[in-house]
Amino acid sequence: MGYCLEKTRMDEILAELSGSFHIYGPRLDARKKKVRFGKITSVSQIVTDRQSDFSAKEVYYPISQVMFYFREDKVEVSELKDDRDILIFARACDLNAIRSLDHIFLKNGNAEDLFYSRIRSRVRFVLMECQESFEHCFCASLGTNRAEGYAMAVRFRDEDLLVQSCDEKLNSFFEKEKSADYEVRFVEENQKKLRIPEISRENLKQISDLPFWKKFDESCVSCSGCNTVCGTCSCFDTVDVVYDEGSNDGERRRVWSGCMLDDFTLTAGGSRARQTPGANMRFKLFHKFYDYKDRFGDGHMCVGCGRCDMQCPQEISFFDTVCELSDEINHMSEAKRGDM
Ligand code: SF4
Ligand code: SF4
Repeated sequence: MGYCLEKTRMDEILAELSGSFHIYGPRLDARKKKVRFGKITSVSQIVTDRQSDFSAKEVYYPISQVMFYFREDKVEVSELKDDRDILIFARACDLNAIRSLDHIFLKNGNAEDLFYSRIRSRVRFVLMECQESFEHCFCASLGTNRAEGYAMAVRFRDEDLLVQSCDEKLNSFFEKEKSADYEVRFVEENQKKLRIPEISRENLKQISDLPFWKKFDESCVSCSGCNTVCGTCSCFDTVDVVYDEGSNDGERRRVWSGCMLDDFTLTAGGSRARQTPGANMRFKLFHKFYDYKDRFGDGHMCVGCGRCDMQCPQEISFFDTVCELSDEINHMSEAKRGDM
């Protein structure tokens, strides 16, 4: 069941919904000329004609988040200041990306991560239909062009919107609207077709030792921009902030970090497990296309959103890197077969 709504009518419904929800969507940060997820009050604020530069993760996994307050000998767990639910207008790749964070934070051990789960449990998605595949997308190669579990779906048209509501809490907002036949459509093909590398326990060491990784020692500047925009990168650091010099009062924050940073593996005593940008790239690629799947059996971690390629100041394409590694592995296997 679907509905057809004028954009002005949808704005009125958004105003009604804002009584119960914080509503987010990809909007233009005019100062930085980047599209990132922010609060919206009108559908006209939602950028529909391009991929957003940032992913939706910063809504439910904040860049910086207080975990605890410590005061002399007492520790208090932080609390969320407001309890409104969250509605996010996002694309199929984003809905698939949150599945990865759910695995990392909710299903990765014996206990759920409190600081993630308490926000995550309030999040619902409005699926934004992709009318076209954008330049850097390769979601169809990974099956992340399709999504499930959304509370609403929307097709933006020039004058109006088609809406589908699949959530009890939202249905009542559309009861009086004009009904319309609306079946959600997904992009079926991208210009970019990913060649997925066959990485396994058997060839892992051989792939790790390839000279392939060395080229990134020259080109990558370890800025971690690719981690920042990625909806599936979940690494963080913890930082203690003491309020005053000599005081024992302060807070522990969790702050995003990233495997591509120079000092990501730095430990006390100055030792670093990975010493070069090439080693970091290898780690990232293995994580996106081997470790995650091996551990959770849930498809690959990368959802093919293409944001890392849009972001890299050195024009290093992760898409190309993955395809080239795939070719390297094929050559490796052919050479092995030739030796037999
Ligand atoms: S690795 Fe790149 S393409 Fe894959 S999900 Fe992250 S940002 Fe998107
Ligand atoms: S964005 Fe590019 S230069 Fe920066 S860490 Fe990632 S691959 Fe390296």
